[in-house]
Amino acid sequence: MAVTKVNRSKTICPVCSLQDGLILQWKHPSPRFSENSIASVDYDAENAINEGSLCPRGNAVAELVEHPLRLDAPVVNGQQVDWDKALGQAATSLKKVAKKHGPEALGVLAGGGLTLEEALLLRKLGREILGTQNVAPYFPDDGAVFHYLSRLGWDDGFRLEDLQKRQVMLLVGDVFMEHPVISKRVLRAKYKDRQHRLLVIDSANTQTAAFAHEHLRPRPGTEALVLAGIAQMVSEAQSKGARDFSLKFDLEAVAQRTGVSQHKMGAVASALSSASDGAIIQSNLYGRQGLHGACALLGHALTRLVPGKLTFVHLPVLWNGRGVYQVLSAAGKGQRAISGPQIMEMVMEGQIRALLLFGLDPLSATPSKKLASALKKLDFLLVADVLPTNSTSLAHILLPAAIGPEKGGQVLYLNGDGQEIEPAVPPPGLARPEREIIAGLAQRISPNQELSGTTAEIEKILKGDKKTSWTEIFGEVEPLLVKRLSAEEREKTAYPLFLVPAAVPAHLGDGSVTRHFSWAQKVCGAPCVWASPSLMDELNVEQGAQVQVSSKVNQALFPLASDDSLPKGVISAPAHFPEVRRLFSWNLDSRHGELEIGPERVLLSQPKERS
Ligand code: SF4
Repeated sequence: MAVTKVNRSKTICPVCSLQDGLILQWKHPSPRFSENSIASVDYDAENAINEGSLCPRGNAVAELVEHPLRLDAPVVNGQQVDWDKALGQAATSLKKVAKKHGPEALGVLAGGGLTLEEALLLRKLGREILGTQNVAPYFPDDGAVFHYLSRLGWDDGFRLEDLQKRQVMLLVGDVFMEHPVISKRVLRAKYKDRQHRLLVIDSANTQTAAFAHEHLRPRPGTEALVLAGIAQMVSEAQSKGARDFSLKFDLEAVAQRTGVSQHKMGAVASALSSASDGAIIQSNLYGRQGLHGACALLGHALTRLVPGKLTFVHLPVLWNGRGVYQVLSAAGKGQRAISGPQIMEMVMEGQIRALLLFGLDPLSATPSKKLASALKKLDFLLVADVLPTNSTSLAHILLPAAIGPEKGGQVLYLNGDGQEIEPAVPPPGLARPEREIIAGLAQRISPNQELSGTTAEIEKILKGDKKTSWTEIFGEVEPLLVKRLSAEEREKTAYPLFLVPAAVPAHLGDGSVTRHFSWAQKVCGAPCVWASPSLMDELNVEQGAQVQVSSKVNQALFPLASDDSLPKGVISAPAHFPEVRRLFSWNLDSRHGELEIGPERVLLSQPKERS
């Protein structure tokens, strides 16, 4: 009689930064990639973070673990090879480029799927073994926020259990759609007492906004101005902190520019000031908020200006995004810090000749013709990932990596606590945790140099963020806000509408992972553009008709769909498609090197008939 053992392993969801607990049930022995290989995901009601709740993405984690397209063997120039050959070939190619162009022609970039140990090893591989300073995390959605918070000091130490009791919650962005499980805690806080207040700032009439007592709906791109107005009102009403908070705007001008009345900003200022405790929670998907780094800075400032105990919570898009950012972006003594977008610029300018990408698909995250062409021209491209992406197809060497539940290790939670996870299932085929890939590569490049990383080193890095005073950082942000306050009329003529990216249930971030799920085709499987019925009438186009969306950097044809929640002058499109992301400008903020991508000005027109 054949006996099949059913394994049950507690782990955490490897998809978004909430890191919700779950149980993977899987059968062994059984071939991978068969319908019997993973039984299901079960709910971990004992998990203190989510108490068992999962969103559609978390419910599909079993599918991610057993996906038939999972990369399961190393590939060199299109041929499957063993690990020894792949790592040996990678080492040879990297040495060759370094010899010809110098070590600074090598670049290393990573996404949010690495553990803290893996991020540390990757940093050492780049900076110590390869001898390049060009090592960085790449987070177009969250990098600007990470930048400010790492300088201000993260608002750590809160407990989710406490957040759900707080009197006031201010949500910046479509928090419930982008991080569905946090809604449980937020709504508990709302419904705990009739006096409790839920406030939302978002340009669209989202599902998050539907729950708000007060929805402030600024014009796209002006969210930071609204927060500045609220902070100024709070500051003027308080003696505490006023001397530190130097922004002095004409509030009527802010109201006119943002479309949010002084009365509404005052209501939020008053709710925040009178609460004994509360939280400001920010979630920003690619380009949804303008100046999203400044939004984080002002949200953080508000928590310090009010007399009550407020906490600022940022919800990054990716699993261990904050942890990877902190570990990988920190430069050691005598080393130069560099950002991911700055490295990507060097790639596009041809200064980087060999690139290592770990768990990152730049052609989905920030797609452009220039970037695609630059990646194709590299002397050497190595990609370690779990599923095929737009970028893996260009790799000279493709290495199959493991996802969170397959590798274990430490990750950083939203409140700054480390979480240690155990491997719950083995990786498929020959796939390996990134720490083994990085160590194997280092060993072949420099056999006498030992690559290791300790928890103590990680802790030192995590504690090592410099604290910069508010006044100094406000000094950097003020010109951006002043510029935003004076709208550019010239652009309005050529591009009269705003394109605001939107999240859809079941997809995450740039879609490079979620588009592989079986429901991906059913839940927004192809790009489209949403417009209000009145705009459709104005343009005389029907639901489903093809329309052309043109921005200053690109244009694309999409089918049109109706959405009566969109305000005048705004269209929307799902952010998990490269076709949509390609329409957004690449705005590298020279002060901190991160991308400030916001709602993009576009023109919507009927496509010209081909003759
Ligand atoms: S909210 Fe995030 S962590 Fe939680 S189940 Fe969904 S994707 Fe996973």
